[in-house]
Amino acid sequence: MGLIRVLPEQVINKIAAGEVVERPASVVKELAENALDAGATQVSLTLKDGGRDYISVLDNGSGMDEADARIAVQRHATSKIRDEEGLATVQTLGFRGEALASIAAVSRFELVTCADAETGGTRIALEGGQEKFAGREGFPRGTRVTVEELFFNTPARRKFLRTAATEFQHTQSIFTNLALAHPGVHFRLTHNQKVVSDLPGCEALVERVQQLFGAQLAEELVGVEGAEASLRFEALLSGPSHSKSSRRWQFLFINGRPIRNPGVNHAVYQAYRTLLMKDRHPAFVLKLQLEPGEVDVNVHPAKTEVRLRNLQWVHTVLADKLYKGLMDTSRRRAFAGAQPPVGGTHRLPAASGIQGQFSLAAARAEGRVGEPGASPSGVASPAAAMLSGAEPPSARLEANPFLAEGFTFQPLSPRGDGEETTAPRGLADQLAVVGQLHATYLLVQRAGSLMVVDQHAAHERILFEQYRRQFYQGRVVTEAYLIPPSLELSAQNALLLEQYLPQWSRMGFEIEPFGKAAFLIRQVPALITGKDVKALVLEVLDELALFGKSGRLEEVFNEILERVACHAALRAGRHLSWEEMEALVNQLESLDINLYCPHGRPVMIEFPLRELEKRFKRIV
Ligand code: ADP
Ligand code: MG
Repeated sequence: MGLIRVLPEQVINKIAAGEVVERPASVVKELAENALDAGATQVSLTLKDGGRDYISVLDNGSGMDEADARIAVQRHATSKIRDEEGLATVQTLGFRGEALASIAAVSRFELVTCADAETGGTRIALEGGQEKFAGREGFPRGTRVTVEELFFNTPARRKFLRTAATEFQHTQSIFTNLALAHPGVHFRLTHNQKVVSDLPGCEALVERVQQLFGAQLAEELVGVEGAEASLRFEALLSGPSHSKSSRRWQFLFINGRPIRNPGVNHAVYQAYRTLLMKDRHPAFVLKLQLEPGEVDVNVHPAKTEVRLRNLQWVHTVLADKLYKGLMDTSRRRAFAGAQPPVGGTHRLPAASGIQGQFSLAAARAEGRVGEPGASPSGVASPAAAMLSGAEPPSARLEANPFLAEGFTFQPLSPRGDGEETTAPRGLADQLAVVGQLHATYLLVQRAGSLMVVDQHAAHERILFEQYRRQFYQGRVVTEAYLIPPSLELSAQNALLLEQYLPQWSRMGFEIEPFGKAAFLIRQVPALITGKDVKALVLEVLDELALFGKSGRLEEVFNEILERVACHAALRAGRHLSWEEMEALVNQLESLDINLYCPHGRPVMIEFPLRELEKRFKRIV
């Protein structure tokens, strides 16, 4: 009897402090978030010895009057929510009402605050949660909280603190996140009397990135913004050619909080799809705004994790919109300096990209396209013909001499989804093939620069897009074998192949079991007729064996798409005729993605003429 007791308030606070206050950086985070919640436009953080001995956060926010200041340091005291309903609609960074009480419980704590300069300020001092002083003090509107000797009364905790340098690194990372989340706020960070960062408020997120990480990174980023239903987002993403070797440069914010969320991160990677090479990572700052009801922040005391009610939906929207944003910008950058499109928006018949196959030679045979330099019909190229809305000569299929070699081009709409879009008319006239280098690269002249195009990567990208489009429209062009080749597989591979037969079939492969571990290939996508289909199937199976356990269908499809494009694409080391080179370049410029092969390698590299002129000392 009489063994159970309710703990004294001070002990409760000490225990609770353990959850909220882990180290100096967590103090910095809580205090700075309070400043932001109070509407501060200037927040100044000052630390000594990594924050182990001294932390002070000064803001020009709303401040508190004396009565509020006294309540603020009590546990579960908050101005940010009033009831359970408030919890569901919380818009502020804080709401638990625990930070000040917790911090005060494990430090020598001082709060100086003023809500109205006329009436003056209030000073409250506590030590280990015990009030030591409360009274008036002159202070401008705003708040300053000072925390000295953190964990002085919990020696076990204090022992666990790392070196000042390490602790300060944690604070710097908090600082970076705060600064990115609130670009409009002026932040200053001072350590051991030295100003480490001083970031005046800025208009745009990209300016803040530049302040923090320098102009180089800022320039590599592509801006994408958008909204859908209750989701708004703002993103700065590294272009695919500026990927990083680590995940260090990835910042995610949901409703103003830095958040770790593997689901959302995955959506970003998904947006890059085939644009990133293996083991490369994008740099990004991604900010999501969702209705408070869509986000549960009350998962973790430090609020670094949240639950999204519709993660699946958010994932789909982001993966799609970020992808489109990346593509649009890459394209715009690739053709920066190109003349503005003539004729404005232009819609192509949705199906024009699918049935008709033609090549430059076929077009030429028809008299629609002249020899290089001459264009009797006024149509310069298949791409131009396509863009001018001419019907593809699908009837010419058999007459196409390139078909036998698998070097075929299909007219593509600039965007496969039939969306209203600005077609880059007139671009065809700007690019001129100069020649082929080492049977591998095409040299292409355009206004102001020289472009070097990797013929395999370029063709691969073209075919990939073409094939993917066919696939998504459910009309993969296939070709049946007269004599179906057979495949003898290992038991493991046979299982793998069987497991994904429906996927293969949707991609245009009709493969049928033929004995124990043998299969007959009856039909394949037209793109790869005449190619080594067995090698292709084996390659895909190898890849599937690696990630097969996750069993993600998208990956299966992507793998097949990529491999087909790669196998179908013309190789490096092949000499191309003039017509072939032109056809390739013309196709390239009509794509919405033209910069990277499906494996993420660049398709072309551009040398500005200015570079050459500088090297030849024509200009300085
Ligand atoms: P929470 O932020 O979760 O409400 P805190 O313990 O961090 O809880 O703060 C308690 C209350 O003190 C806040 O709700 C707010 O009203 C007030 N407060 C704290 N810091 C500041 C500040 N810098 N400026 C104005 N008011 C503040
Ligand atoms: Mg708070």
